[in-house]
Amino acid sequence: MESQAATMSSIPDPIGLSSWLALNSESLKPPVNAMYLYSGKDFILMAVGGPNTRNDYHINETEANHFSYQVSYDFPGITLCLYPLSIFHLSSPIYLVANTPHSPRRSKDTIGLVMERTRPPQMIDRVRWYCGNTEAHGGVPTIIREESFYCEDIETQLKEVIDNWMEDENSRRCGSCGVISPAH
Ligand SMILES: [Zn+2]
Repeated sequence: MESQAATMSSIPDPIGLSSWLALNSESLKPPVNAMYLYSGKDFILMAVGGPNTRNDYHINETEANHFSYQVSYDFPGITLCLYPLSIFHLSSPIYLVANTPHSPRRSKDTIGLVMERTRPPQMIDRVRWYCGNTEAHGGVPTIIREESFYCEDIETQLKEVIDNWMEDENSRRCGSCGVISPAH
C-alpha cells in the first residue's frame, strides 16, 4: 500500500489546456511564441501561438508531432513549410520525421501544440536559413546561414538564435548571390 501511495503521489495533475492558455497565452511572444506546458524526462510539450515572426527552418534529429488546438477562421491558420518546399495547412495533426527542415508559419489567433523528445545526449538541433533568390541559384537550395546547438531549453535558445539573425543584417547576406534576406 505504501509503495502504491508513493507512486500515485508522484503523478502530476493533468494539464487543463483551456485554463493554462487563459493564464499564459499573453506570454507567447515573437519570434517563436513558444512556452512549455510540460518538460519531462522523455518528452516536452509546447504551446506555440501566432502570429510568429520567423523564416528559419528548424531541423531536429528527433521526431515531433504538431497539432492545431485553436485556429481562427482567417486563412491560412498554421502552415508548416517543409524543405524542399511543400506546404501543409495544419487542420489535422502532423507527425514530422526526424531531420525534416520545417518552418512553422503561424497566423493571428492560432495555437499549435508541439510534442518533441527531450533531446538525448549527442542529438544536435540546427536552425537554417535558405536564400530566397532562387533564380540566382538555378533552383538549387542555397543555405545562407546555419546554427547548431544542443537544445536544453527551446524557449530561450531558439529565440536567441533567431533574434541574432534578425538583428544582424550581415548574417542575412547570401555568400553566393549577395542578396540580403528579410529579417522575418
Ligand atoms: Zn543567394
